Amino acid sequence: MEIIVNSDCVEYTDNFIEAKYQYQYTSAEKEGNTIKVTPKCENLVLKTSRRVPKLGVMLVGWGGNNGSTFTAAIIANRLGMSWPTKKGIQSANWYGSLTQAGTVRLGEDVFVPFSNLLPMVHPDDIVIDGWDISSANLAESVERAQVLEPALQQQLKEQMQQMKPRPSIYIPEFIAANQKTRADNILTGTLQQQTDQIKKDIAEFKESSKVETVIVLWTANTECFSNVLEGVNDTAENLKSAIASNNPEIPPSVLFAYASIAMGCTYINGSPQNTFVPGLIDYAEKEGVFIAGDDFKSGQTKIKSVLVDFLVGAGIKPVSIVSYNHLGNNDGLNLSAPKQFRSKEISKSNVVDDMVSSNDVLYKPGEKPDHVVVIKYVPYVGDSKRALDEYTSEIMMGGQNTIVIHNTCEDSLLATPIILDLILLAELFSRIKIKRENWTDKEYTSFHSVLSLLSYLCKAPLVPHGTPIVNALNRQRSCLENVMKACLGLPPDNCMTLEHKVPFMMAERSTSSKSKKMRLENGSK
Ligand code: NAD
Repeated sequence: MEIIVNSDCVEYTDNFIEAKYQYQYTSAEKEGNTIKVTPKCENLVLKTSRRVPKLGVMLVGWGGNNGSTFTAAIIANRLGMSWPTKKGIQSANWYGSLTQAGTVRLGEDVFVPFSNLLPMVHPDDIVIDGWDISSANLAESVERAQVLEPALQQQLKEQMQQMKPRPSIYIPEFIAANQKTRADNILTGTLQQQTDQIKKDIAEFKESSKVETVIVLWTANTECFSNVLEGVNDTAENLKSAIASNNPEIPPSVLFAYASIAMGCTYINGSPQNTFVPGLIDYAEKEGVFIAGDDFKSGQTKIKSVLVDFLVGAGIKPVSIVSYNHLGNNDGLNLSAPKQFRSKEISKSNVVDDMVSSNDVLYKPGEKPDHVVVIKYVPYVGDSKRALDEYTSEIMMGGQNTIVIHNTCEDSLLATPIILDLILLAELFSRIKIKRENWTDKEYTSFHSVLSLLSYLCKAPLVPHGTPIVNALNRQRSCLENVMKACLGLPPDNCMTLEHKVPFMMAERSTSSKSKKMRLENGSK
């Protein structure tokens, strides 16, 4: 379906959609007992390239539950596969993907899939490659993951057997010791040599698959946090030297990100560790390459970023949030080691901060709800993770409200559509350029290298230094929706619907719909 915007502010050429857009926002400053609010306006032009490239994706941790499920989902959807289950025939779909299964309201009763708003890569056209420290081919990985139905695995087997992960960088100190047994596909040599090999792999993939754009995404095991050290990883220059001198503080994920940036490829971190040390951010900014993360926001945290927003927004005061998880997949095994669990705990723990600090009627400065996260490894449940959450809130007059949620779900079937969205949106945003209306065409710029537009999909969003972090899910979604609409010169959905509330506007609407109906009855358009 094609969307054509009927406005003088939008111009469609063969190569671009160019939209003039009035960006209105407010700034607010506290001065003693008063708050000065200033409405502001920027006249911008957003230019979106209509040329969708052939896209390649390289996954680090390709043979894991997420990597193999993502690959299977791309193939199964591309080939329109169906398979028998005890409930009947199931067909491949992209449920859970904002771009493929989520819709945007364009006008009254007219909704379109996100993917129809602007020209985007189609999932069927993505070419996949990647690395894993385990040599299992992708058919074996799908079987090991125990996520997809056996009848689907059978259909995928022939194709997926051909897919073999490239050897990867393995430094045992950074992931749990319990992962050692699967590490049979590893690079050797100095950190510099291994990083150079990753660069060669990217170049070779690009050449052999004829893709025009490559995005690298980390979906490998969670690493422990690395130390941010002066002179080691605090600037791009120091990081370069640290890699060259084989510094033991540099984990594989930083080497992958470094190699991707060097090759001009967007790098996305789907795990919680602090890959994006200051030196790496510095490097991405200098090279003008996108980086995004951290940690897929798939289940428990997603609910938390909706529920706490609702509670605090409603004037109810959450005072205790206790989250308990048990999972039995390899991710759970890795997270059963204390240092790797700590990375996940940090990533999960700040998710309510922005909502809490937005309401000083409920919370004194610095006050926060008790927030505890527990993760336990229970092999029997496999990928079917259990998440139990208890939210206790204070309601009026000293009353209490306790909400308990029990969530059972295949972890990788939640993460896979998020991986897809991260990739498709990161690619789209690389084709959007922005300038002020009175600037020359030479002054078009891209979004900031730290692509915080993808926050909706990340548990602990990475944002440019000094800018606010937004965790509230609905604000994150509105941001994506409204930026994409702005590229078409459309205003944000302000939800005011005054045309249904103000009598003279309602009367105008009913006259115009009556005349439209009469025209239709008379057979004219
Ligand atoms: P998994 O253990 O099944 O897969 C990880 C893969 O990475 C394994 O195949 C492993 O061999 C490989 N690996 C480890 N170190 C590597 C390295 N240095 N180079 C290349 N490969 C390496 O885990 P998963 O369930 O697929 O999850 C992947 C990551 O995504 C985890 O860090 C997890 O915390 C994160 N995550 C998952 C979800 C979710 O599944 N819902 C949500 C948020 C974040």
